[in-house]
Amino acid sequence: MCATVKNIQDLFGAHPAAFSGIRQSALAARELIEAISRDIEHHTATVCMECTSVCCISRHSRYDKSDVIFLTALGLDVPVYDPESEETSPCRFIGSRGCILKRSLRPYRCTWFFCAPLLDHIMKTTDPSAYRRFMRTLETITEKRTGMIDEFEKLLRKLPGTGLVNM
Ligand code: SF4
Ligand code: SF4
Repeated sequence: MCATVKNIQDLFGAHPAAFSGIRQSALAARELIEAISRDIEHHTATVCMECTSVCCISRHSRYDKSDVIFLTALGLDVPVYDPESEETSPCRFIGSRGCILKRSLRPYRCTWFFCAPLLDHIMKTTDPSAYRRFMRTLETITEKRTGMIDEFEKLLRKLPGTGLVNM
């Protein structure tokens, strides 16, 4: 396990009360991610099936610091990245019908990335009010995750004996 992932997990384990707000934000973000996933899949089921340049490559499946904080707050393990794998080889989580992971377990970049054809399809096939709702939900998820990271960084500065955790 990467040292930083262990550091973050240890921090959550050592200060459960201090990190409870972050856990609540992560739970709220997870609920929204799973809810919006149905809408996203409605579009990826059409667009991605015809894609000739699939974006699910190995380097996109790396979990960054915000993903580690998010998964740890949910009490989940962080999948280990194989540094030997070719960065441009197919992602280890790609299956015959797309990603095999629940959306909330994927790196967050996999949820907020919309290539031009996908975005175009969403805009052309979604009525304006549903589109605005969709975008607002994405913004709310991002705000919750950003708030979670900010809170984590604040706690690192406040809690005794915690150094900065860099990734
Ligand atoms: S999101 Fe875009 S680039 Fe990625 S697989 Fe779907 S169509 Fe292809
Ligand atoms: S969506 Fe899934 S298969 Fe695609 S890059 Fe992300 S983790 Fe890998």
